[in-house]
Amino acid sequence: MRGAESEVTVSSRGEDRIRSGHPWIYRSDVVKADAEAGDLVRMVGARGRTIGHALYSDRSEIALRLLTPGAEPVTDAVWGERLDRAIRFRETLSIDATAYRLVHGEADRIPSFVVDRYGDYLVLQALSQGIDRRLKELTTLLVERLNPAGILARNDPRVRLLEGLERRVDVQHGTVPESIEVREGRFTFQVDPYRGQKTGLFLDQRENRVAAAQYARGRLLDAFSYNGGFALALAPRCDEVIAVDLSEDAVARIRANAERNGLGHVQARMMNVFDELRELERRGERFDTIVLDPPAFAKNKAAVPKALSGYKEINLRALKLLSPGGYLVTCSCSYNVSEAAFADVVAQAAVDAHAEVSVVERRMQGRDHPVLLTVPETFYLKCLILRKLA
Ligand code: SAH
Repeated sequence: MRGAESEVTVSSRGEDRIRSGHPWIYRSDVVKADAEAGDLVRMVGARGRTIGHALYSDRSEIALRLLTPGAEPVTDAVWGERLDRAIRFRETLSIDATAYRLVHGEADRIPSFVVDRYGDYLVLQALSQGIDRRLKELTTLLVERLNPAGILARNDPRVRLLEGLERRVDVQHGTVPESIEVREGRFTFQVDPYRGQKTGLFLDQRENRVAAAQYARGRLLDAFSYNGGFALALAPRCDEVIAVDLSEDAVARIRANAERNGLGHVQARMMNVFDELRELERRGERFDTIVLDPPAFAKNKAAVPKALSGYKEINLRALKLLSPGGYLVTCSCSYNVSEAAFADVVAQAAVDAHAEVSVVERRMQGRDHPVLLTVPETFYLKCLILRKLA
């Protein structure tokens, strides 16, 4: 390993970016790189000053991910200290669940590294060359701190291809079963850590599920339900629950989860939400609570206009299906769509649906997925809880 002596010179625009609190340098701002894939490098500004230490990628458009600004070097102890802080922070959150995010990349100062806890197991993701290269050491540090029964690397996200890394899933430590039981509030879920979406569950919505449960009542429609996270959390307050998802596996899991938790009034439908909303409207059906939690419609900037029209359509139809006095919990996890743009499109939907709507809560991803104040895109999950007045 060439380690700490590797050096990358960045342009003054890149230097300004770091100074403004952004932890990434793009390839176009790299002037000269004397470094190899995944190296820990000293970043040098246009005038030869050390501006920080970072992880280098020789493939990604994100060439450098900041570890430490200024001249302070990155010692071996830094990794363990950062893990300790991330773990301690979660301990302060009084999370009423056995599944949550322990390390959220840049927001825990371990860029592109994700660690989720599922009961006695950890599921991690190495999303850059630098972290991939250090995965063994990071695994050892996690074992020393948490002594998990098993650690699974879910290194299958597509973004790894941008780093020139292969997509693979492998056990890093101990054994990891095909199915792990976890608890969220009073409900239990079976999680498939090998094949489930993300690392198994949508942990980022946990607090929004708790918040939404305060308002839920009457007839509930949970659209884009996955394994029924919202449907289950809201079901005890509702008379009838319809959960809709396109995925056969998700629908089977909603049914199994509803049964396991004694919620006989939860129905799961394998349908395209766009079609189902239209059909429910045609049949004149009404709901008192609706949850819209679609996948990221805008995966990149070019997809934003189409994404906005998708958000508008589902929100328009949901507001029409909602009874006066009912609640709409509407989410967007597209980091390319700001909260303001999302709120604007939902407002247009309300106007077109002739609905008067008040904002009950404006929410974001759970606190175990922190947002960086100086990096607006890290506020990726927006959640509005709305009330239809008339
Ligand atoms: N609400 C869930 C997370 C939803 S993730 C939770 O709290 O856990 C988005 C889900 O939408 C995925 O399960 C995906 O299978 C589903 N999906 C994507 N496009 C869809 C469509 N057009 N119709 C129905 N479901 C869809």
